[in-house]
Amino acid sequence: MLPVIALVGRPNVGKSTLFNQLTRSRDALVADMPGLTRDRKYGHAELHGHRVILIDTGGITGEEEGIDWEMAKQSRLAMQEADLVVFLCDARDGLTPVDEELAQELRQLNKACLLVVNKIDGLNPDIALPEFFAVGLGEPAAIAAAHGRGVSLLGEAMLARL
Ligand code: GDP
Ligand code: MG
Repeated sequence: MLPVIALVGRPNVGKSTLFNQLTRSRDALVADMPGLTRDRKYGHAELHGHRVILIDTGGITGEEEGIDWEMAKQSRLAMQEADLVVFLCDARDGLTPVDEELAQELRQLNKACLLVVNKIDGLNPDIALPEFFAVGLGEPAAIAAAHGRGVSLLGEAMLARL
């Protein structure tokens, strides 16, 4: 059985962009429109020679009705299936209340978890990152998924938690 890694977080933080970077496929939908990937989406990835299965999710908005409820349900199923949950935040948005709720949910899940702050391009990490330590999921990994920046190091961090 290959290890399973779920990518979770609010819509639009860059989950599908990271999924595409890691799977090197064009399968996952990447778009500006939040919530386009509504279901769970599976892909094979190789992290420094180790094969894993990645799950892309639509995202959790904090609204638990209609489409948002369905997306949140799919995200939670992905979290249950996963050996490691990668929790993405957006450096441009900063830490949001929904991020904090999700972080609390992840701490209660009692599963290997990795905090990732995406869209660090053009920002000073020394200023953007400190607030993310507050969510209590350890040191955040800073990446710019769209540019592949930090993705190799993130791969190492993922492997270290499997
Ligand atoms: P998802 O909803 O979490 O799957 O987010 P997407 O992967 O669809 O990305 C949402 C938007 O953020 C898209 O317009 C991406 O191009 C953009 N984006 C993703 N990664 C980065 C990044 O590293 N830097 C910047 N500046 N934008 C990014
Ligand atoms: Mg997506």
